[in-house]
Amino acid sequence: VLVRHHYLSLDPYMRGRMNDGKSYAQPQPLGEVMIGGTVGEVVESAHPRFRRATRWWAWAAGRNTAWSMPPARRAAQGRHHPCAAVALPGRGRHARRHRLVRPGQDHRPKAGETVVVSAATGAVGSAFAALAKARGCRVVGIAGGPDKCRYATEELGFDACIDYKVHKDAKPCPRRSRTPAPRASTATFENVGGWMLDAVLLRMNAFGRIALCGMIAGYDGAPLPLAYPALILVNRLKVEGFIVSEHMEVWPEALKELGTLVGSGKLRPRESIAQGIEARPRPSWACSRASNFGKQLVKLI
Ligand code: NAP
Repeated sequence: VLVRHHYLSLDPYMRGRMNDGKSYAQPQPLGEVMIGGTVGEVVESAHPRFRRATRWWAWAAGRNTAWSMPPARRAAQGRHHPCAAVALPGRGRHARRHRLVRPGQDHRPKAGETVVVSAATGAVGSAFAALAKARGCRVVGIAGGPDKCRYATEELGFDACIDYKVHKDAKPCPRRSRTPAPRASTATFENVGGWMLDAVLLRMNAFGRIALCGMIAGYDGAPLPLAYPALILVNRLKVEGFIVSEHMEVWPEALKELGTLVGSGKLRPRESIAQGIEARPRPSWACSRASNFGKQLVKLI
């Protein structure tokens, strides 16, 4: 099928693929078009099951049209959900919340727990809040600036949000914050790393869990020293990294739950949309604070 792409998703992992270093993903080959999440429609088809105008999502080269080979069992997407909710970031949160448990252990968030998420108003953080609230948790966000924090509490359903920009380092952040957040947390969904992870470590309860989803503060090469790693020992914390693409088996379940949350208005993610591929943000966008408000997309038509 030939697919006309309507939207291209820009995600922080793309910045990591621009480094030629050890990683779970192959570096982006020089001279090739960058791959990204796309949604669009079939404009030509030589496949009996996929007619023109079928909605189509794929990992595809970030250009306006692309030939695509339908997988054996592909479900055509009929309905529209905001890309922020059901694309890679949303499913990443879902995978972590549901699956990353070792046999015999259950680390899923439980009703009444205080859970913390950094980069709270981004694509990942906003869906995290909706999923955690649906499970009865108290959800505290960390975000940059009063506008983002207001959006977190007034629109995304966070119980509280800490504006990290009014703090210089980890220590005073959770202790002296005027934000009504400093109840100790039992679970953290970490997206940033660096001193923000330190700030969280200082407020973790014994036997707390930290899901390491991203460390965006270091994607441009900045070192990410931890000032209080001993707290992992002192508080017997469990820290575990995960990669969403290694949990494909829960994607259908994740799509269903995230779609339901969007449909019921409990998840109202924002999208920052750049018009046209030539207008896409610079490669460093992924690591620049506040350059995007919510999911960053490029509209291609
Ligand atoms: P996003 O919507 O683009 O949000 C990124 C936000 O991070 C920015 O708006 C900014 O918000 C914050 N930020 C950027 N640079 C920062 C810095 N140097 N220090 C502190 N905060 C910074 O991104 P996303 O899709 O939600 O992704 C969030 C994280 O999840 C990233 O680390 C990404 O790599 C990770 N991720 C991991 C997986 C996985 O499988 N493990 C899957 C998807 C995403 P503020 O203005 O509030 O600082």
